[in-house]
Amino acid sequence: MPLPEHDTPLIALIAIGFVLAFSFGMLAHRLRVSPLLGYLVAGILIGPSTPGFIADQELASQLAEIGVILLMFAVGLHFSLKDLISVQAIAVPGALVQITVATLLGMGLSWAMGWSMVAGFVFGLALSVASTVVLLRALQERHILDTERGRVAVGWLIVEDLAMVLALVLLPTIARVTTEGEVPISEIATAVALTFAKVSVFVTIMLVAGRRVVPWIMHYAAHTGSRELFRLAVYAVALGIAYGASGLFGVSFALGAFFAGMVLAESPLSQRATEEAMPLRDAFAVLFFVSVGMLLHPEILITDPWAVLATTFIIVIGKSAAALLIVRAFGHPWSTGLTISASLAQIGEFSFILAGLGVALDMLPEKGRDLLLAGSIISILLNPILFAFVERRQARIILRAAAPASTPDPASAASDAPAPAAPEEEEPAVTSLTGHDVLVGFGRVGSLVGDGLLAAGRPLFVFEERSENVEAAQRAGAEVVEGNALEPTVMSAANLAAARRLFVTIPEAFEAGIIVQQARAANPELEIVCRAHSDAAVEHLRAMGANLIIMGEREIAHRILEYAVQDGTVA
Ligand code: AMP
Repeated sequence: MPLPEHDTPLIALIAIGFVLAFSFGMLAHRLRVSPLLGYLVAGILIGPSTPGFIADQELASQLAEIGVILLMFAVGLHFSLKDLISVQAIAVPGALVQITVATLLGMGLSWAMGWSMVAGFVFGLALSVASTVVLLRALQERHILDTERGRVAVGWLIVEDLAMVLALVLLPTIARVTTEGEVPISEIATAVALTFAKVSVFVTIMLVAGRRVVPWIMHYAAHTGSRELFRLAVYAVALGIAYGASGLFGVSFALGAFFAGMVLAESPLSQRATEEAMPLRDAFAVLFFVSVGMLLHPEILITDPWAVLATTFIIVIGKSAAALLIVRAFGHPWSTGLTISASLAQIGEFSFILAGLGVALDMLPEKGRDLLLAGSIISILLNPILFAFVERRQARIILRAAAPASTPDPASAASDAPAPAAPEEEEPAVTSLTGHDVLVGFGRVGSLVGDGLLAAGRPLFVFEERSENVEAAQRAGAEVVEGNALEPTVMSAANLAAARRLFVTIPEAFEAGIIVQQARAANPELEIVCRAHSDAAVEHLRAMGANLIIMGEREIAHRILEYAVQDGTVA
């Protein structure tokens, strides 16, 4: 019996795509390389450049788009309007300067290849936008999405997204300029104004009506008591708003989904919605990589290796260097700069859309699209390596700062020293407290701990990233430094060498581990108490030097059991 792949292309794509992605993902895992490589290989195998089953490319990119929608929805769920406003000072100029630099570099390469100015412009623009899926996966995997630098990266991505919405509208007009000569400037201005107006109307509707209606829908669904209906509500809201935003307002699916999530961010149901969106989101994000693999035309690697190398160089090195310099110029620390650079050093879905449109409008040669695809795959593969490098470097910066202040490492201090006297990075003064308690995080857990310590009359020093929680800690009477405790310059303010105890109440075990390691190096006698949410985290924190680790889930079980036993129902 022949395989039914021709009658059921969607099922064939999903089934064969998942089976191959799983098999090669497992193989990659065994070989200790990123599973992304496995997913891309799966895509190449079901793509047109290899024999055997050829999946439907159009369907594959639509399925990948569902992954983008669910990913951006989940990110929105953790992002309040306040967060968005707080990162705009760096995200807007940062993204714009980076887009300009990448476009100019792309135009330079295109000029060297003898293409027209317009081809260079489209090529450069396509090089300047990072892939949402690659960026968000990288941040999520490393648990840095909820940190300040994670938020800056997301803000940056949103500005890039907006710029691309505009670019997609303007490309056809630019194409007309090249073919027909003059196009009245008023026509271009109208197109730009119309795009801005549509995006603004969409955002206003979401912030005014969506903010009320969406939480109400979710609340209502949750109160039916049916898990199925709640789950359905999550998918209906995420996909419905993304689709409507794109159909009615010309906003990208990703931006639509982000706003759908954001209006729900302050609702107590946002956590549950995140959990519900997760399984489908991860599955479709994998299909994104499969769909990218399908697009590859491997011939380009042989016919034009130098052009592929130069394209990859612009994506991985050129864009990163520009981002790092901008972030530093704005006075943000190295760690923020390195994270942003690494997260944006790749290209993906938007570049393919731009390239596709460019080719269709006769603005970009076919070779441009092939180069972008090859550059995308190579940069996606290099991305985990780049992140590993960045993480190692960050750990080094942190450990160096943990060494006593009197013995700086002169050889490397020059390169890792924070920017001098930039306002946002001014080193906080070192506290005069001694024998004090230090608390990292003043959220749901930390605020209760902090209030209790203050009530018991303990001198307390708090680190907190979010301004609303900083204010709460100040009101409670603690000495507070606003910032990421991972930053060496921030951490040194606590004078850990003279402190008695350290309470790390942040949920991310990786970050907590670095803080513990740094604190342990600064004071071998310090009593360190940590929060954890898994057995693996408990082990990790103990290995880093924590004395006592409280695992949330176990404590909940203890309290429930305590109650049950007291009540006489368990005997
Ligand atoms: P919760 O999970 O509600 O207890 O909140 C954790 C709190 O820790 C939040 O208010 C975060 O802003 C804060 N937080 C997380 N990571 C860090 C960090 N590296 N430095 C300072 N504060 C942090």
